[in-house]
Amino acid sequence: GEGINREPSFQEEEDEFSGVYSIDVAVRVRPLNSMELADSQLHTVRVMDEKIVVVLDPSKLEGGNEDDYLRAHRSRERRYTFDHVFDETASQQKVYAATTEKLIGGVMEGFNASCFAYGATGAGKTYTMLGNKENPGCMLLTVGELFHRIEDDTSKTYRVYLTYLEVYNENIRDLLNPSTGYLDLREDPVKGICVAGITEFSTTNVGETMELLQRGNLNRTVEPTKKNETSSRSHAVMQIMIEAKEKTADISEQVKIGKLSLIDLAGSERASATDNRGARLVEGANINRSLLALANCINALASDSEAAARAGRNGRRRVRSNFVPYRDSKLTRLLKDSFGGNSRTVMITNVSPAGNQYEETVNTLKYANRAKDIKTKVVQNVVELDAHVLQYQNIIRELRSEHRGQE
Ligand code: ADP
Ligand code: MG
Repeated sequence: GEGINREPSFQEEEDEFSGVYSIDVAVRVRPLNSMELADSQLHTVRVMDEKIVVVLDPSKLEGGNEDDYLRAHRSRERRYTFDHVFDETASQQKVYAATTEKLIGGVMEGFNASCFAYGATGAGKTYTMLGNKENPGCMLLTVGELFHRIEDDTSKTYRVYLTYLEVYNENIRDLLNPSTGYLDLREDPVKGICVAGITEFSTTNVGETMELLQRGNLNRTVEPTKKNETSSRSHAVMQIMIEAKEKTADISEQVKIGKLSLIDLAGSERASATDNRGARLVEGANINRSLLALANCINALASDSEAAARAGRNGRRRVRSNFVPYRDSKLTRLLKDSFGGNSRTVMITNVSPAGNQYEETVNTLKYANRAKDIKTKVVQNVVELDAHVLQYQNIIRELRSEHRGQE
């Protein structure tokens, strides 16, 4: 069956945040838009309750009666269970509260976390992650709440900075400072994977952050043929780094560094068309390399978790784990420590309910269903730093980001 019985996401409790987690997978169905309504598009997606969603084949939806369909095709319907399923009436606040809000506490304690918006072009990824002024999405609601909590926490000093970049055509560009051109990935012993030369904005103001992100979004690559539309092949990645230290002054201090990555992925349509459980996806013309690599990493991590669970049930320890092809793309290299590895991960799967999107919707939900099986082990990032060194590093960073901000 397609995953109706699920183990709870939280597997082992070590302390408040450490432990082994499954990826939390949510599905959000957007409303039909005015064009689809005018076109009398059938609803092919029905949200049964807060965890179950059913997809109806429009070619069998005679007369558009969903209830008749559900009775007639009960035995071979496509029914999926997820951690959260949101129907078209779900507010931004509701989606946020069930997904990225839950990542904030851990990130403030030095854990990594990430949230991916996955789905076909037009399914609602950018609306969910960024939203607009009237209906701010997860990125803004998360940043706002993070700033609130930092203000309320008088026991620690925090340093917060954010970056916003795009992966397009296997090139990384700083969306907040596009004049810097293509940027390279680097492995930093303290911060993990980072992007050399990217602008780090220090901010604790929600309004300012909203402006930054909206300005950044305007810098996303547009396809030459579609002048104002963001390219469906562009991935936008916002990362917030949070350094926390206790206010009790000491010559050697413990610094906790948490990283939160919120990702508005490229449209999944080309990648999911080649969906083949367990088989390695092959890159072809026009297929987005980063999205394929992500799918391959999901497959490798998921079958790893399955095999480990199987071995556990048979009283064996699994020795060999799957090779996870992180190095196959810029996106998976960038997110290596935010996904699969040392991180709590949430995936928000966006789908359209329109009949003409049936194939895409099924493919998208199959992927999301696969992602549920990934388990990640989460540990805290704590570094001991000499107080003076730390101070100088901060001063240098601030000077750098001011300098870049002026360009
Ligand atoms: P994607 O980024 O996946 O290509 P968008 O987020 O741009 O898709 O959504 C496509 C259109 O549908 C946009 O006009 C967006 O405002 C609208 N939309 C998406 N999701 C919702 C929603 N939950 N409620 C209202 N409008 C939505
Ligand atoms: Mg978009």
